[in-house]
Amino acid sequence: MDFSPSQTQQSIGDAIDAIMADFGDDYWLAADRDARFPEEFYQAVASGGWLGIAMPEAYGGTALGIADAAFMMQKIANSGGGMAAASSIHINIFGPHPIVVYGSDAQRAEWLPPLIKGTEKCCFGVTEPDAGLDTGMIRTTATPVPGGYRVNGQKIWTSTAQVADKILLLARTSAPDPKARRTDGLTLFYTDLDRRQIEIREIAKMGRAAVDSNQIFIDDLMVPERHRIGAEGKGFSYLLDSLNPERILIAAEALGIGQSALRRAVDYAGSRIVFGRQIGQNQSIQHPLAESWVELEAAELLIAKAAYLYDCGQPAGGLANAAKYFAAEAGFKAATQAVMTFGGMGYAKEYHVERLLRESLIPRLAPVSAQMVLNYIAERVLGLPKSY
Ligand SMILES: Cc1cc2nc3c(=O)[nH]c(=O)nc-3n(C[C@H](O)[C@H](O)[C@H](O)COP(=O)(O)OP(=O)(O)OC[C@H]3O[C@@H](n4cnc5c(N)ncnc54)[C@H](O)[C@@H]3O)c2cc1C
Repeated sequence: MDFSPSQTQQSIGDAIDAIMADFGDDYWLAADRDARFPEEFYQAVASGGWLGIAMPEAYGGTALGIADAAFMMQKIANSGGGMAAASSIHINIFGPHPIVVYGSDAQRAEWLPPLIKGTEKCCFGVTEPDAGLDTGMIRTTATPVPGGYRVNGQKIWTSTAQVADKILLLARTSAPDPKARRTDGLTLFYTDLDRRQIEIREIAKMGRAAVDSNQIFIDDLMVPERHRIGAEGKGFSYLLDSLNPERILIAAEALGIGQSALRRAVDYAGSRIVFGRQIGQNQSIQHPLAESWVELEAAELLIAKAAYLYDCGQPAGGLANAAKYFAAEAGFKAATQAVMTFGGMGYAKEYHVERLLRESLIPRLAPVSAQMVLNYIAERVLGLPKSY
């Protein structure tokens, strides 16, 4: 087995390095401080054609696999951009997958090219305040009316809604049927984020301030029937298709953050002199860094295996979840250890590791928590009884 990056990945790496060279640490520090969307970075990625890396060629994409897309996201997160850089484009990479697979030709032709060119942004509205991880409990309703649907409800944590033009929205079109699965009756829409009918309130949060997350309140939003993706009531099953690639991508982003933090910590450990010697000469400094290196390498292998299975069309659920779990934990641990290695200066913004630490928590929490990943592995991989 060849573990070196493929020729395609080398080209991706060179192109992404060239883009990231224009967006150094200070750009991301300022974006975080000013809570400002990194529009220049977003446009640079769009101009390079990278927003469409996993989208069909017919609509302007490059149709590469998840292994290549994950490689790109790892590179992006491994720059000074961390999760802010990755999250500003994350939804473009695989978010439109339900449109690609279940949309009509007309929908694909209308919706995909602007997302790939970067002339339109979209956000993803699934999570609701009263449902949490139990998506079957969402209460946003899309009531059939002549010509379409009237949508009412609330979403929470909808990222990029401050800058988005469109929303990929999951809503209930029929009441839960006690005899059916709770996720039946949910329908997927791709529609305008019409601010006359949708109030968007930003959530003040711990990190990744450059990329907003929001509560949104939808009040009598009229959605035309042609904005429905696929069949009524099947929306959740359409999203299931995108879960594994999304976990692989977030794992790659966590890995990139961990690598960035580790690199900074190692540089500092080699240059900071205390008690007349480099702090990195102390085993209590060097062993945790070595441990992080081992864990990040292992995360990279899990990601590569999960992506390989997915790209070959083989069942990838177990490995995609394992990669997301392990990379998220390893990235967080590396970022934590980076702060500790810097000592007091780790707490200062100018060294960037505190920002990476705050951002490294996101892959542990979202799009699915560590606990739910372990539930999945216990039940679906190990065959243990469902615990909830
Ligand atoms: C920065 C950020 C960006 C986000 N962006 C988006 C977005 O763009 N669009 C979107 O739709 N959502 C988004 N989310 C939401 C994210 O997907 C959810 O926060 C996540 O799915 C967890 O849901 P919850 O917060 O409601 O947790 P809850 O469901 O309330 O769970 C709380 C805790 O209980 C644990 N728990 C619950 N049930 C069980 C169980 N059966 N067994 C073991 N443990 C359990 C969970 O693991 C978790 O630790 C984002 C979240 C964050 C933090």
